[in-house]
Amino acid sequence: KAAPLAQIITPDAAKSMYKPRDKFSHKGDYGHVLTMAGSKGKVGAAVLSNSAALNMGAGKVTAYIPAHANVILQSSLPEIMTISSLGENFITDFEHDIKDITLCVGPGLGTGDDVSSAFAKALSQQSLPVVIDADGLNILSDNSDYWKLIPKNSILTPHDGELEKLIGQWKDDYDRLEKAKKLSIDKDVILVLKGAHTIAVSGKNLYINDTGNPGMATAGSGDVLSGIIAGLLAQKYDALTAAVFGVFLHGRAGDIASQTYAHEGLKASIISNFVGAAILDLF
Ligand code: AMP
Ligand code: MG
Repeated sequence: KAAPLAQIITPDAAKSMYKPRDKFSHKGDYGHVLTMAGSKGKVGAAVLSNSAALNMGAGKVTAYIPAHANVILQSSLPEIMTISSLGENFITDFEHDIKDITLCVGPGLGTGDDVSSAFAKALSQQSLPVVIDADGLNILSDNSDYWKLIPKNSILTPHDGELEKLIGQWKDDYDRLEKAKKLSIDKDVILVLKGAHTIAVSGKNLYINDTGNPGMATAGSGDVLSGIIAGLLAQKYDALTAAVFGVFLHGRAGDIASQTYAHEGLKASIISNFVGAAILDLF
């Protein structure tokens, strides 16, 4: 068996990906993220992905949410805008012009029929790469005809449970990566295989992350990653860079935060609040 084409994401490589801001820029230069996330009892997933997109530097962030979540989002995150779905507890429809907007779909979304058709309706309007996580991935696994709606170079961020639904069971690590590469090539998407060493898969190329720690094995950690990656996409980082740089910064943020909070004390919202520290640490 030939060894896979693989590289570690080094701090130097990450540093070279960073695009400093222009002094005379305005928020319109840093893009607009729209998340489709949250359902009754899982509104926190929406809060986390939206706040992570802001912490990563997106110029504007809009949360498309179930109606009951409006007050929750608006009081947790004064910086964001919201659009309420007709559905009270779940997002059951999608009505919005998303031209030039970066979609981030899935955290805490649910997988019911109405939710799935709202997912399809949003994606069918989009041609820019999107971030798909969590229940967005589960919806895709349950509805293989939705694959045709996924824009080229979209970034899918499964943990192993979500990955298994997408690619089936694997025999060993080699088989897992081969199956992931095949899916990446067949569907023209970037896969971010989350774990202790997250691996970004783009076609036959693998980018292995070396930042992060077991303190990040905590609820909502992945929701933060989805927002970080969407925030980078909105700022016109190309899709592969958004995936690789996002994974690196997410792990570094967790590493820096753990120096204050220990592994045990890390929470997803804290990881998110340390994204800026991870950027400063590049230099
Ligand atoms: P999720 O399961 O969707 O919440 O995603 C978990 C996030 O935390 C992913 O970004 C993982 O890479 C990260 N993570 C989970 N466990 C570990 C670990 N033991 N070491 C480093 N990162 C981890
Ligand atoms: Mg998750």
